[in-house]
Amino acid sequence: MNNSITPNWDELLDYDQEHIWHPYAKLPSTTPAIGVVKTQGSIITLSDGREVVDGMSSWWAALHGYNHPKIQQAMHDQIDTMPHIMFGGFTHEPAIELAKRLVKLSPEGLEKVFFVDSGSVAMEVAIKMAMQYWISLSRPGKNRLLSVNNAYHGDTFATMAICDPINGMHSLFSEVLPKHFFAPAPEMGFDIESNNDDIRDLRAVLENHHNEIAAVTIEPIVQGAGGMRFYRPDYLKQLRELCDEFDVLLIADEIATGFGRTGKLFACEWAGISPDILTLGKTLTGGHITLAATLATSKISATISSGEPGILAHGPTYMANPLACRAAIANIDVLLTAPWQDNIKRIETHFNEMLIPLKAIDGVKDVRVLGAIGVVELEKDHLGADIQGEALESGVWLRPFGKLIYTMPAYNIPQNQLNDLTTGLIKSVINVIQKSSQL
Ligand SMILES: *Cc1c(COP(=O)(O)O)cnc(C)c1O
Repeated sequence: MNNSITPNWDELLDYDQEHIWHPYAKLPSTTPAIGVVKTQGSIITLSDGREVVDGMSSWWAALHGYNHPKIQQAMHDQIDTMPHIMFGGFTHEPAIELAKRLVKLSPEGLEKVFFVDSGSVAMEVAIKMAMQYWISLSRPGKNRLLSVNNAYHGDTFATMAICDPINGMHSLFSEVLPKHFFAPAPEMGFDIESNNDDIRDLRAVLENHHNEIAAVTIEPIVQGAGGMRFYRPDYLKQLRELCDEFDVLLIADEIATGFGRTGKLFACEWAGISPDILTLGKTLTGGHITLAATLATSKISATISSGEPGILAHGPTYMANPLACRAAIANIDVLLTAPWQDNIKRIETHFNEMLIPLKAIDGVKDVRVLGAIGVVELEKDHLGADIQGEALESGVWLRPFGKLIYTMPAYNIPQNQLNDLTTGLIKSVINVIQKSSQL
C-alpha cells in the first residue's frame, strides 16, 4: 500500500470483522484479525506499527522469508511480459521450466505434472487420477481410498473424506462425504523401534478390502494439521511394499513437507520410496503466490490416456499460471543455491536445545522436533488463544491450534530472530500454563 493516505485501521478492522471470513472462523468473528501492512524476511509489520518475528512461515509456505529479492524479481519480470494466459491449447516457458525441475528433483519415477491452484485441489486431482486409473483398467470397483487417523489433506469435499474422521471435519458432513477406509495413525516417533502394530492394522484393511481400494493416501513422515505428529521412515517403506503387494496406488501428500522442511528435499526420501502420485502446494512458490501440483508416474498417465474417455477431465481456469510458475522456479533455485540443509540443522539443533526442556513442565504433554519444525503439545486444548496473545506481546507470531503450539520458521531466519522466536514461545507457554493452573 502506498502510504499517501493513512488508512483508518479501526474502521478497516471493524469491516473485516463484520464481513470477511477468515480460516476456520465465525462471522462476525469473536476475535478481530490483526492488521498487517508489510513483510520482510522473517519480520511481519502490524498495522499498529509493531514488528513481530514470524514463527509460522504463513502455514509452511514462506521457506526463505517474505519478499525474497530473487523471487520478487522473477515475478516482476513475468508480470511485465505475461501475468496469465489460458493453458488450454497454449503452453509457456515458466510451466515447462518448472515441470522440468519438479520431475528432476522429486522421487524417481514421477514424470508427469498437473498444475493447479491450491493444495486441496492438487489432492482432488490425485484422487481423480487414482480412481480413473482403475476405471481405465476395467476395475471400477477399486474406487475407495485408505487413509489413516490424524490425516489432513485439505478442506474440499473429496479431501475432507480422507481427513481424520473425528478431529477433521468429517463428522459434520458424514452424511454427504464418500465413505473411505481408515487405519490407525502411524505410531508417534521419528526414531522409535516400533512393534509395527500400526502397519499390521493397515495391512489387515488391505487384505480385506484391496479389491475396493484405489489408493492409500498419506502425509510422509509428518502428519501436519491433523496433529503435528512425526513417524518413522520404516513405516513408509513398509507401506510402499504393502501397496505393491496388494496392487493399490500410493498417494504421498508433500504439500507441507516438500522442499526441505524435514531435512530432506522430500520427506519420502527418508524412506527411500517413490509414490505413484505426489502432491505439492504450500511451499512451491516459497509463500509468494498460490500454486500447487500433482505429479504422477508415466504408468498412471499412460493408463488413463489409453482408457475411456482417454483424457483426464480436469482443467482449472488459472492452470499453470505463468506468474506463479515463475515464482516457483525462483523459489526452487533459491533453495538449491542456499545452504538449506545446514539451515535446517541449525534450527533443529536450536529447537532441541531450547524447546525440549519444556517437557519437564506440568501441563506440557510432549515436545517434539524434526527438521525445522518444533511442536509443544499441551495437556489442555483451550490455552492456544492466550498463548498466541502473550507471544504477540513479546513480539512473536504463532498460530496455535488446539493443544498444539508449533513453529516452522523460514530456513534462513537470522539467529537473533530465531532466539527471539523460541524465547517468546517458551515464555508465553510457561506464563499461560501458570496462570491457568492458578484459576
Ligand atoms: C495445507 C495442506 C493441504 C491443503 O492445501 P490448501 O492449499 O490449503 O488447499 C493438503 N495437505 C496437506 C498435508 C496440507 O498441509
